[in-house]
Amino acid sequence: MAEFTMELNDEQKEVRDWLHGFAADVIRPAAAEWDEREETPWPVIQEAAKVGIYSLDFYAQQYFDPTGLGIPMAMEELFWGDAGIALSIVGTGLAAVGVLANGTEEQIGTWIPQMYGDASDVKVAAFCSSEPDAGSDVASLRTRAVYDEAKDEWVLNGTKTWATNGGIANVHVVVAAVDTELGSKGHASFIVPPGTPGLAQGQKFKKHGIRASHTAEVVLDGVRVPGSCLLGGKEKLDERLARARERAKSGGERLKNAAMATFEASRPAVGAMAVGTARAAYEVALDYAKTRQQFGRPIIDNQGVAFQLADMRTQIDAARLLVWRASWMAVNGKPFTAAEGSMSKLYASETAKKVTAQAIQILGGNGYTREYPVERMHRDAAIYTIFEGTSEIQRLVIARTLSGMPIR
Ligand SMILES: Cc1cc2nc3c(=O)[nH]c(=O)nc-3n(C[C@H](O)[C@H](O)[C@H](O)COP(=O)(O)OP(=O)(O)OC[C@H]3O[C@@H](n4cnc5c(N)ncnc54)[C@H](O)[C@@H]3O)c2cc1C
Repeated sequence: MAEFTMELNDEQKEVRDWLHGFAADVIRPAAAEWDEREETPWPVIQEAAKVGIYSLDFYAQQYFDPTGLGIPMAMEELFWGDAGIALSIVGTGLAAVGVLANGTEEQIGTWIPQMYGDASDVKVAAFCSSEPDAGSDVASLRTRAVYDEAKDEWVLNGTKTWATNGGIANVHVVVAAVDTELGSKGHASFIVPPGTPGLAQGQKFKKHGIRASHTAEVVLDGVRVPGSCLLGGKEKLDERLARARERAKSGGERLKNAAMATFEASRPAVGAMAVGTARAAYEVALDYAKTRQQFGRPIIDNQGVAFQLADMRTQIDAARLLVWRASWMAVNGKPFTAAEGSMSKLYASETAKKVTAQAIQILGGNGYTREYPVERMHRDAAIYTIFEGTSEIQRLVIARTLSGMPIR
């Protein structure tokens, strides 16, 4: 097990500086344009692929970094550049991690390369779990997967919503219920290969922020996928269902709690995205406060402004520490006995919302216009308290974990 450290090693510093350079030189200058266009920034993804940032190798390297700091460091730098573009670059990773975590070696080798494509022909992937009536309550999803034994095929029917890269992805990973009695324990994940008939993009959403990231409905109408597309394989699924049925007899509520806890490990990564956006807005506000003159002196000369900046920086650093701790714990298999993953996401995402709003205030009229980036950063920051579990759901997970009570 790696010791927890707050110091990046030389290799990590080199990667951080390289990512920062890409974020500053390629992502940041393109941010306003793609925010206005509300389209996937394919040329930027392609640039990221050319230099090796958009690739499984890069994420695997960070993901398996034993210090746990690889992913949060990478997320912070890319999202410092711009949240919408960065999500377009790392969104495929969400689907890839789903396959890495649950797939067989053959599935990993077959599908993950098709998720990314290559620098001359980049592709993206989508992870489709949420549904119109199943957001926070993931256990209640209605998409069904039925096994057709004669053909060794699974048939998927349902509607997914708010899927990042939904409908434009080469490969979709779809979560569906195979046993509706078991809540989330009766769910399984399926690969839907490129060009599979029956999968179509529904509505593409116009959003408040992260507008360079594509978000859409995905409609599954009699989608047939081969048995080999069930992640982990049928034997493993059957064993898991049998165990879940046994446990369900001794207490359904425990099942639901366990399901909520499974997302804990991925939450520090979202926390790190929030830290990146918050840091970006804070830096703009600090620079502005030092140069903007009112009443014959820089506005930072007023404690009312300077103290806001002191609080902003303190909260950003505190958020980063919570994120790094949780990420280190997750990588080193330390149990989240106090829901540390949820804590990190809750604090970092609320900090990003608050800090970006303060940044607008410090920039005054300029902060409210699209001439300055803090207005966009504030719109972007609002997503962090919503996706990968809302702030209320994080508090629920933390409170349940701390108390051991089925708090509602
Ligand atoms: C831009 C964007 C990208 C997304 N990308 C993806 C993706 O790639 N794949 C995917 O599967 N999903 C994705 N999502 C969906 C996202 O994960 C859900 O929106 C999120 O989980 C919240 O679900 P909901 O919107 O249905 O809100 P609801 O669950 O309807 O919640 C509404 C409000 O009620 C509160 N609430 C609900 N239950 C409780 C409770 N028990 N106690 C207290 N408060 C409660 C919530 O906190 C929230 O404030 C994305 C969403 C957005 C907006």
